[in-house]
Amino acid sequence: MLFEVRCPGCGQLGWCPCAACVEALEAPEPASVPGADSVALLFSHSGVGREFIHALKYRGERAIARWLGDSLALTHLGLIAMESVDTVTWAPTTAAHRRSRGFDQAETLARAAAKALQVRPARLLRRIGSAAQSGTGRSARLSGPRFSGRSSAVGRRVLLVDDVLTTGATLAAAAAALEGAGAAAVHVAACARRGRDRVPAGA
Ligand SMILES: [Zn+2]
Repeated sequence: MLFEVRCPGCGQLGWCPCAACVEALEAPEPASVPGADSVALLFSHSGVGREFIHALKYRGERAIARWLGDSLALTHLGLIAMESVDTVTWAPTTAAHRRSRGFDQAETLARAAAKALQVRPARLLRRIGSAAQSGTGRSARLSGPRFSGRSSAVGRRVLLVDDVLTTGATLAAAAAALEGAGAAAVHVAACARRGRDRVPAGA
């Protein structure tokens, strides 16, 4: 049975994504995430790259999720050579986002990357105080998301994935929680790097 797929970059039928749009992706600015053993980034959150993320985040398109998951796995492996991970996890989105979209795009990516790396994904993080995060108060935004690591993180070599990396604060908080829970290594892989100039003041 054939399924029609459409490129989220240009809308053309046939490949998701098409070769021309992959070629058009802009290289990400480098980013560091405190506490992470390595940081893999795929592309800049602009142009075609932004369309790829929107297809994942707002439309839940499976074909792009699979391609992004494969790409995260390959880019991560390219950075760390032979020293691979034994599980893949994600920083859970807010309960409000999960309810409105019906899924957590970070979890979707983590599952796709785990499949590509042939390891089991694991839910190793809990989000704390997500009610405050979904608020618009200045203090809520400044404090950033907080996470707690589950006891099952002990001794694990973890790949932590996310769709977008802006300041790196979310992933740094998640990496710290995993280390606090006893993870042996925390590597980070994110699809799109959003530049600081696009972040509203106080975010
Ligand atoms: Zn295309």
